[in-house]
Amino acid sequence: MTVVDRRPKVEPGQLFVAGHWRPAAGGERIDILDPATGRTVTTAAAATPTDVGGAVAAARAAFPGWRDTPARERARVLRRASALIMERADELAAVESLDVGKPIALCRNVDVPTAAETYEYYAALALTVEGAHREVPFPAHAYTRREPLGVVAAITPFNFPIILSSTKLAPALAAGNTVVHKPADETPLSALLMAGLLTEAGVPAGVVNVVTGVGAVAGDALLSHPGVDKIAFTGSTAVGRHAAAVAGEHLKPVTMELGGNAAHIVFEDADLTRAVEAVIKAFVFNTGQFCMGGPRLLVHRSSYETILEILSQAVPGIPVGDPFDEATVVGPMAAERHLAKVEEYLRVAVSEGGRVVAGGERIAGDGFFHQPTVLADLPADSRVVREEIFGPVLTVQAFDTEDEAVELANSTPYGLAAGLQTRDVARAHRVAARLDAGIVWVNDWAMLDPAMPFGGVKHSGFGRENGPEALHDYTRTKSVLISLAP
Ligand code: NAD
Repeated sequence: MTVVDRRPKVEPGQLFVAGHWRPAAGGERIDILDPATGRTVTTAAAATPTDVGGAVAAARAAFPGWRDTPARERARVLRRASALIMERADELAAVESLDVGKPIALCRNVDVPTAAETYEYYAALALTVEGAHREVPFPAHAYTRREPLGVVAAITPFNFPIILSSTKLAPALAAGNTVVHKPADETPLSALLMAGLLTEAGVPAGVVNVVTGVGAVAGDALLSHPGVDKIAFTGSTAVGRHAAAVAGEHLKPVTMELGGNAAHIVFEDADLTRAVEAVIKAFVFNTGQFCMGGPRLLVHRSSYETILEILSQAVPGIPVGDPFDEATVVGPMAAERHLAKVEEYLRVAVSEGGRVVAGGERIAGDGFFHQPTVLADLPADSRVVREEIFGPVLTVQAFDTEDEAVELANSTPYGLAAGLQTRDVARAHRVAARLDAGIVWVNDWAMLDPAMPFGGVKHSGFGRENGPEALHDYTRTKSVLISLAP
């Protein structure tokens, strides 16, 4: 058996402010646990409102310099960051795996390269921020400029730390903003590594600051700080609602990337083998802690029992185990509270008449492991179907017509992602257009790229990450009119 060094290469208990490592003002720390063992592996500083104020002040002070740095130079820095991420891929992947409990193969093949590609993509897009000359009916030279907003508060969730910080920091920096990043309470380690890496890439002191700690303290102080010009929030719908309210009070622009509960529709004309592969990927990817996962399977009635039978055979064979094992597909949940939530939903499912087709149990031991679980026969209005469970749990429902499938798919308050399996190209386009979701996949799941925007409708939020759309959201337009009158 390989002995894994589970000590993260991160300085314990430090914030990164104005280019320096420093402890929190109160000296308080929070324990960072390895979800696979339940043991503390290091500590993170619990930032106070004073620390947050210091970080915002540092970002404000650094803003004019970074804004006025030529876009070509900002692009060079982001390209170097991308290259450094790939040079340190093993270290970053190991820290992410340890912190979140993600399978190491997933970290190495998806999380870390995606972060690198995101910096590379926005390095290229940094050169595209431009205004336009406009014709006006009086003697004036009239043009628009696109300018950065100022200090961005980037608040990120626990499930994809390095990716979801990159999808904020890369476009924000490309456009000339400075950033205060508040990573999730339990999974701040890659953000700290990235602070050092970005500095090495040439990001000047104060342009990126990282405040770790408790959401209700450090996050809240950041949301309401008058020195913040934009809030980029990714997290639960409940906290997002609070963040949007605070932003409203302070009249700050916000992007809200919130919860999801995507439907995955398997039509009667689908290639069933391929469909089942996608179904499994969609609900176990990242141990089901995937905002754009597919936990609600809708199957045409003619294939319902066949698919349940295939899933009952296939799901127990999914490798669950130590995230540092290369063969692991499903690791532990990232924290005990997430595991407790899954267990609670399974109790509700059984009380509502749900049939457990596969899994259904917590895995005994100190780590936060749960079996991948498939539930059938739940009513459409079941809480287990309608709410976001955020674990490796799939509910399966039958439908009879295309209209009914679309209606069921759109029947929750969420609208982040959706997917369908069909061989009928007209149906693919027709249904994709009718689904309430920011991204739709056909005949696969989780195809993602920095060029393709994602984001929510309804209670899944507003604004988009990735693509030119995100860069646009980190700038504002100014009109300049210069009289040409003699
Ligand atoms: P969360 O809402 O608990 O926390 C998200 C962030 O907000 C963390 O950094 C946390 O510290 C901070 N926070 C908590 N309370 C706060 C407060 N009062 N003021 C300011 N900040 C506060 O979410 P989570 O459990 O970390 O992440 C899971 C959720 O995120 C799920 O609902 C998931 O669907 C969603 N998510 C959405 C997307 C997307 O792109 N839409 C991506 C990933 C995750």
